[in-house]
Amino acid sequence: MAKQTETFLHSVEKMFDQAADLVGVSDDLRHKIKVANSTYTVRFGVRLRNKLFTFTGYRSVHSEHREPVKGGIRYSPHADQNEVEALAALMTYKCALVEAPFGGSKGALVIDPNEWEEHELERITRRFTQELAKRSLISPAQNVPAPDMGTGEREMSWMADEYKRLYPSEINGWGCVTGKPVSKGGIRGRVEATGRGIQYALREAFRHPKDIEWAGLSGTLKGKRVVVQGLGNVGYHAAQFLSQEDESIIVGVMERDGAVVDLEGIDIDGLHKHVHDNGGVKGFKGYTPDSDSVLTMDCDIFIPAAMEGVITENNADSIRAKVIIEAANGPITFTANEMLRQRQCLIIPDLYANAGGVTVSYFEWVKNLSHIRFGRMQRREHERQTLNMVEAIEEMVGSKFPANHLEKIIEGPTELDLVRSGLDDVMREGYQVISQKWASDSRIPDLRTAAMMIALERIQDSYDSLGI
Ligand code: NAD
Repeated sequence: MAKQTETFLHSVEKMFDQAADLVGVSDDLRHKIKVANSTYTVRFGVRLRNKLFTFTGYRSVHSEHREPVKGGIRYSPHADQNEVEALAALMTYKCALVEAPFGGSKGALVIDPNEWEEHELERITRRFTQELAKRSLISPAQNVPAPDMGTGEREMSWMADEYKRLYPSEINGWGCVTGKPVSKGGIRGRVEATGRGIQYALREAFRHPKDIEWAGLSGTLKGKRVVVQGLGNVGYHAAQFLSQEDESIIVGVMERDGAVVDLEGIDIDGLHKHVHDNGGVKGFKGYTPDSDSVLTMDCDIFIPAAMEGVITENNADSIRAKVIIEAANGPITFTANEMLRQRQCLIIPDLYANAGGVTVSYFEWVKNLSHIRFGRMQRREHERQTLNMVEAIEEMVGSKFPANHLEKIIEGPTELDLVRSGLDDVMREGYQVISQKWASDSRIPDLRTAAMMIALERIQDSYDSLGI
């Protein structure tokens, strides 16, 4: 890959400036919002394999205009302060855009999880949690991490358990992290939430024919050719839902060790199992080591779901997708974004597109604070009322509801139903507001600027009401 000239943080800041100019944010407030409030670097030792290993971790708090602050923790050998600060800033804008009542934060541990055994990772994660806890950088009231690249339910469960050991009398202790397994205070639907959010976002975009036609597409998601980069948590779920529920055709999947191409549609579950069993896509039907050719292949929708900075000024001209939905954070640099816009590629921006994760994390945090699962109080009452209504209708019309429909009609919502409903609502409304904003003023060049403007307007309001 050619050398990148724009850092992730520079790209985020340029996008911010473009939106701040249009909103008319004053210079002093602009500076206050733009910079990270604090970034903590920790170096801690863990004795493993008869040796003392020193690990470096970060937790950046971008903005505390709302508390707690929220954002994932990634495990990556390439993580650094610049990246963590860019990701924390994006979290502030993302939460404001989808009205999740949090400030922005992000964390990272510089580690390649593949190099460590599970029991070693557990000890490292628990030590990292202790360091964060000492500085209130993990706390249900102040700072609530979540999974990101290289972390998942397992790591969140270790973190929550360590926090509970440190603060046994904290009644809301489970709310110190989100993305936990359901058995440890998690919520149904969180694992797949970001991928599900990508599906809902695309569905809503296709309910806006003007936007889709601008990019040269029409119709629905059915039959659309999709390329996905990264078959991890987000990429796998997005690809699975789009192919199984919307009849989109996944024609290409890129992974670390190459790519898979099948114009008839890749068996996503089969490929996912193959990656799990073999550590990569090599050996699967349609394998090619040439990922770059897949990045630039002809397709309708491209879903970068791996990492930042994959589309830069060096390759933007060769991308042929008509729509790009940023499932990863920051996959398109500022300059590449400009180049793609010139040729009417519709970019659905990260700060909206991948907000499904933080949205369902918000639901999980509320569940932890309320100590009751969603739907517990209402479900049977809903069934009772609906059954009464059904019986009254049957009596009036003198015939019975068809038995195969009756069960579905009276069934009250489960926690998963409610999570999906809430997520769908957030993703639909999110797209509607950014699309309307884009259409409202010819100076607004794209959905990304529109999304950033809405986020900034809300953050500005919040600072105004704080009196700062
Ligand atoms: P993950 O670790 O589960 O998956 C990442 C996948 O990308 C892995 O399968 C990895 O092998 C692959 N990959 C890494 N480098 C690659 C490369 N150069 N080319 C192709 N594939 C490569 O991570 P994830 O949780 O799915 O996160 C992916 C992206 O989505 C990140 O940018 C993350 O910040 C963002 N995101 C995640 C969530 C979430 O809920 N997990 C929420 C919002 C945003």
